[in-house]
Amino acid sequence: MSYEIDQQRRNLIKFGMFSGLTLLISSKKSAADNLIDQFANDSTNQIISVRIWPSDVYTRLTIEAEQGIKAKFFNLANPNRFVIDILNSTLNTVLKNLSNNEFSNDPIISGIKVGQFNPTTVRIVIYAKQPVSAQTQTIDPVHLGSVNYKYRYVFDMYPANAITNHDESLPLNDQLLAFLQLNADQDKPGVESSAKSTIAKRAQDYPEISAPPANPQVEPQKGKLLVMIDPGHGGEDPGAIGAQGTKEKHIVLDIGKRLRDLINASSNMQAQMTRTQDIFIPLGTRVAIARKVKADIFVSVHADAFTSPAARGSSVFVLSDSGASSAFAKYMAVSQNNSDLIGGMSFQTRDSAVSRILLDMTQSFTMRKSTKLGQSILAQLKQINKLHNQDIERAGFAVLKAPDIPSILVESAFVSNPIEENLLRTEEFRQKVAQQVFDGLQNYAKTNYKLA
Ligand SMILES: [Zn+2]
Repeated sequence: MSYEIDQQRRNLIKFGMFSGLTLLISSKKSAADNLIDQFANDSTNQIISVRIWPSDVYTRLTIEAEQGIKAKFFNLANPNRFVIDILNSTLNTVLKNLSNNEFSNDPIISGIKVGQFNPTTVRIVIYAKQPVSAQTQTIDPVHLGSVNYKYRYVFDMYPANAITNHDESLPLNDQLLAFLQLNADQDKPGVESSAKSTIAKRAQDYPEISAPPANPQVEPQKGKLLVMIDPGHGGEDPGAIGAQGTKEKHIVLDIGKRLRDLINASSNMQAQMTRTQDIFIPLGTRVAIARKVKADIFVSVHADAFTSPAARGSSVFVLSDSGASSAFAKYMAVSQNNSDLIGGMSFQTRDSAVSRILLDMTQSFTMRKSTKLGQSILAQLKQINKLHNQDIERAGFAVLKAPDIPSILVESAFVSNPIEENLLRTEEFRQKVAQQVFDGLQNYAKTNYKLA
């Protein structure tokens, strides 16, 4: 799988004239370098893939290797840059190609240089467009569903000036909040256009999907229901992949944007999204963001795979705290909860406000609301597709665990079913899914809220 992604990544790379590598940094040894040498040994670690996931929230650089990656990084000013030294490694084509990336649409990276710093160390220098903070993690091999990754080292970069509140949340939470705020405050032509160009650049990755025309974002208004739309997966986590190569993460982002536009065109609701680009957001962060902006409703959108390609039909899930409603529901929850293993979990949310008592008191009330909401949406989906089950299903989905926000997870259709993969690939069906979810939200809202 990583090779497939490599190929796609290569498709994104605009090759310029490659004029040979220059050794970037003087090889005069510092104390830090001597320390590095202590770690180095004779066995060279083969770097098999490097991927970059730019977004307005954060930019991730992923380095994938045959063995566990040992690396060190430090930052330098004037110009703003990070230096990552990968120990026990030598330059290869994958690393060399990194310098050839086109970064004009990357909100954070302006350029990358790569060189063999010493016989056992590859040095990557990342030039930043603005002051940036970084966070790294190593991830062990993952072989889950459609994902097959070896050892990874991920380097996540955030605009430093957007991080305001280190005490209460981790960088990604702050960044997402800042991004959502920006979305609510203005039309954001810059961000929308950069999102569009990202999609356009990835046309070869998934040619059928283009961004629907975005309605201008509405100003936050009192008396409107705030719906947090959560397109599943993203970035390193592709979600399920259909036989034709259709990636769930692209399908659900498109449906999510269509739903957002329907909601924002309505008089009684407004929408925000946990992601508007192809980036990985941990499950706990999705929940934390919904709680911080005080969302009234949380809708996670998916199009997953099941064990048999024969399985088909739409379904809606709510949280269960006492076991799953079926083996199917249990399977779906386990596969969804794997997302954090695939994307890495360094941004575990520290949501200390949620005490056990609060959870017990509010959650049963919230779960009753979630059930009503789920039933309302399932009734609508029935009009456009078979249902996998005539009633909503329950299981322990991590992304549905906001104790105070009615939360549901919609499985639009199975990308693993050939008929439904074809449906999901059409704009018409994706628009229908968005419309039915919207109608279900409206029906639910009519009977559960006093709205203008
Ligand atoms: Zn999914």
